[in-house]
Amino acid sequence: MKKSKGIIKRISGPVVYAEVDGAINDVVKVGNDALLGEIIELRGKEKVVQVYEETTGIKPGEPIVNTHSPLSVTLGPGLLAQVFDGTQRPLEVIKEKSGIFIKKGIDLPSLDMEKVWTFTPTVKNNTQVEQGQIIGEVEENTVITHKILVPPGFSGKISGLRPGEFTLKDVIGKVGDKEIKLAQEWPVRRARPTGKRLGISKPLISGQRVFDFLFPVAKGGVAAIPGPFGCGKTVTQQSFAKWCDADIIVYVGCGERGNEMVEVLEEFPHLKDPKSGEALMKRTILIANTSNMPVAAREASVYTGITLAEYFRDQGFAVALMADSTSRWAEAMREISGRLEEMPGEEGYPAYLAKRLAEFYERAGIVETLGGDEGSISVIGAVSPPGGDFSEPVTQNTLRIAKCFWALDSSLANKRHYWAINWLESYSLYKDVLSDWYSENISKNWNLLREKTQSLLQEEAELQEIVQLVGLDSLPKEQQLLLFVAKMIREDFLQQNAFHEVDMFCPIEKQLAMVEAIFAFYEKCKGKIDTLDLEALQVSESVEFIARLKYMPNKEFTSKKLAKTKETIGAAVAEAEQ
Ligand code: ADP
Ligand code: MG
Repeated sequence: MKKSKGIIKRISGPVVYAEVDGAINDVVKVGNDALLGEIIELRGKEKVVQVYEETTGIKPGEPIVNTHSPLSVTLGPGLLAQVFDGTQRPLEVIKEKSGIFIKKGIDLPSLDMEKVWTFTPTVKNNTQVEQGQIIGEVEENTVITHKILVPPGFSGKISGLRPGEFTLKDVIGKVGDKEIKLAQEWPVRRARPTGKRLGISKPLISGQRVFDFLFPVAKGGVAAIPGPFGCGKTVTQQSFAKWCDADIIVYVGCGERGNEMVEVLEEFPHLKDPKSGEALMKRTILIANTSNMPVAAREASVYTGITLAEYFRDQGFAVALMADSTSRWAEAMREISGRLEEMPGEEGYPAYLAKRLAEFYERAGIVETLGGDEGSISVIGAVSPPGGDFSEPVTQNTLRIAKCFWALDSSLANKRHYWAINWLESYSLYKDVLSDWYSENISKNWNLLREKTQSLLQEEAELQEIVQLVGLDSLPKEQQLLLFVAKMIREDFLQQNAFHEVDMFCPIEKQLAMVEAIFAFYEKCKGKIDTLDLEALQVSESVEFIARLKYMPNKEFTSKKLAKTKETIGAAVAEAEQ
């Protein structure tokens, strides 16, 4: 469409008022530096524009140009292993071109347009194809084969498709009379189309015991992790990014302090993927928008992230998206809304906060792709409520949507009990739907053991109140034993060190073995309760053995070893008899 020109009238931080033709969501180039912006409101002759770059230095009277197209991302080979900003500008390339300070109005393609890819068609010419169908493949790297999809809205007979070496600029064939390239564009604020939504059927496994065992999130599910500063939101997000069994990871670092993102940017390129043994970055995309970057770009980063996730979902992948933190995203909305002098809702957030959060999280899910495969997006949203107060609007609105709630607890973090997830407050509404999966794929015991664990922890909490009043010694022996076993669950099983070479990742089979060992021990002790010397038991070989299980190298942890574990426990318990 023809571009239209206009003139800037007023500037208020990231918001610019201009006289120009256009509609909501049109992308505009603002001022002499041609800064990237988007029309977000129409006020009579004036358009309200949010600008994704620093607006200092722009003056009224400078020009504005409307491109008449929506804020879009480029989707195609070359996305993986990239670091983008909130509007999909390639940060590594920008760094090479303009140093650490991003030059204003820099207009670079998001993906490398010169790089040559080897394309292999998977359909024959002259066949009828529909939108979303896979028509060929590009080996993007040694881990991921990128599927080339018929863009949404295209359908017809395919022609001119051929194997060969292509850049993203080259035409690889035609669908009907429309040309097809390896890359396609999609507007970030609109969900990409899919086939039907499927029911939740399997967990997203992270190798983190408290999440996998007690509060699992499903593939295609949404988990929220709210918590005060310093309790482990970022470490959780990073551990999921490193270890969870999704095919593709999209990590949106949204508005947190710059150094947290620097950690990610420095650490991730060196990480090895436990599945392939190759670089983890080969299946990861990072989106970096730190608190020192313009606020509007932060608002956009979450949409950019989920659109990239959808594109890989549409190829039939299981994608996991981490957003750290959605509170900073909501604050960006609040700041922009304030500049627009909109009527504020609760705590100054715009009245549409709940709607925006819901629209974002609705883009998660497990679906039949248009190509007939299964694809999923799981979202893990960190929430940073000021002062750790969960009653504030972002936490509350998120909890209304997320079916999995991981409640970080500062008293646990203070005691250095990590993961600092409160086991009494947290919940997962997925666990019942997933129970068949666990019985079939892990063990018939899994669900029962989880129930037993949860009620043990619940009973512990109740007993502890009594202990505070009357002291431990006045409790019957059975209850003293229960308290002791609950402590084992907390310390030897739930606690997990994200930085310990072995403990950072605990395979699900090992998780099962660990709880089985604790309950085998418990049963043995209960059977001998009358003759058992509880003090001797606490320093017994079996107790120590169980405590060391988490550090036993995962490779050594075979089922044979587990049988041995149970024997050892039996023998050790016998020793503690009076
Ligand atoms: P938040 O993002 O909530 O502000 P972080 O994720 O940065 O908090 O965590 C703060 C600190 O807590 C980390 O630097 C780390 O020392 C500690 N921590 C959190 N979780 C774990 C864990 N599972 N294992 C070891 N240390 C942890
Ligand atoms: Mg953090």
